[in-house]
Amino acid sequence: MSEPIKAPAPAAAGRAATKKELPEHFKGYKHVWVFIEQERGLVHPVSWELMGAGRQLADKLQVELAAVVVGPEGEATRQAAAEAFCYGADLAYVVADDLLADYRNESYTKALTDVVNTYKPEILLLGATTLGRDLAGSVATTLLTGLTADCTALDVDTDGSLAATRPTFGGSLMCTIYTLNYRPQMATVRPRVMQMPDRVERPVGRIVSHPLGLIEADIVTKVLSFLPDRESANSNLAFADVVVAGGLGLGSPENFQLVRQLAAVLGAEYGCSRPLVQKGWVTSDRQIGQTGKTIRPKLYIAAGISGAIQHRVGVEGADMIVAINTDRNAPIFEFAHIGIVTDAIRLLPALTEAFRARLSPHSRDRLAS
Ligand SMILES: Cc1cc2nc3c(=O)[nH]c(=O)nc-3n(C[C@H](O)[C@H](O)[C@H](O)COP(=O)(O)OP(=O)(O)OC[C@H]3O[C@@H](n4cnc5c(N)ncnc54)[C@H](O)[C@@H]3O)c2cc1C
Repeated sequence: MSEPIKAPAPAAAGRAATKKELPEHFKGYKHVWVFIEQERGLVHPVSWELMGAGRQLADKLQVELAAVVVGPEGEATRQAAAEAFCYGADLAYVVADDLLADYRNESYTKALTDVVNTYKPEILLLGATTLGRDLAGSVATTLLTGLTADCTALDVDTDGSLAATRPTFGGSLMCTIYTLNYRPQMATVRPRVMQMPDRVERPVGRIVSHPLGLIEADIVTKVLSFLPDRESANSNLAFADVVVAGGLGLGSPENFQLVRQLAAVLGAEYGCSRPLVQKGWVTSDRQIGQTGKTIRPKLYIAAGISGAIQHRVGVEGADMIVAINTDRNAPIFEFAHIGIVTDAIRLLPALTEAFRARLSPHSRDRLAS
């Protein structure tokens, strides 16, 4: 089986004529920033994944990598900034104000745009989470700059521009987008697309505090109460080490239970391709792919999935892909590490029984940890 495709290298040729000279007032914009997304004291892991990507960009550009932490005054915000240094930040900009205790678009947009306008980064990265998408859009429109959403690869071009690659035309092509004449160059990246960097214990470095400059009366949106989503802890798909997924080839929602049974024996999470969500066989939080979740498990077992590009972009970060498909010409065999040409409806129960017989509960836990 062939190696997973890498995002195509950005090509400078052909766009030279489109590039105007960067306006004088943008020439001072320097350094790479990552917005550290925290809610109720918890930093979203995508922020650390972006620190890894940001470090590589900063090293190529030979500039500093900064974390931007926005949140309420107190320990959680301090801790988020301290943690950013363990993931490679050279410095952290902190806007701490109790008006920032809950995410509200107006206050967070004000905080982030003010810091950008004051300290002028050339690149600003955010996670493509619900919060990050909302914030990135309004920050980009307030700053009148370009934003490339849901990137799958980030690089620096020969002239130092950010080359932000993302799927286009329904995921059938990859395109590389440049923000040539405005600053900062903004991009969002979905969780699990970038590799999590190693955490290295480091002392807290330079912190630059910046005031919010708002009062409650300035903010139209009021948070009346907070209702946690009880279902949100049920699916740990994006972060699972072992994932078993099924596609249309399974033929019926009853047969999809075979996927769930194998996942249960392996201590794995289960997922599916998009048509199963559209048919109402499986809930949308289990969808894997371009418009679902990106996964990076150690082992991914795909049964009755053809391997369309929109599915592929969500799974090609897996260490080992095992595909079960009756069609030996199915596209999934082009990027699977192990391909099994057979009927998944017969093989899945056999695999479940074989693993049940051989795996003790203890080894299942180890497999999934
Ligand atoms: C904008 C856009 C976004 C999209 N986003 C996503 C996304 O996030 N995730 C996603 O998955 N798709 C997405 N899609 C849909 C995608 O293009 C494919 O249509 C989809 O992935 C196909 O799902 P599938 O592989 O389950 O079905 P099919 O393509 O129908 O494949 C079924 C496979 O099962 C095999 N098969 C049949 N019977 C058996 C059997 N008994 N045992 C084993 N194999 C069998 C067949 O040979 C076939 O290869 C998106 C499409 C668009 C346009």
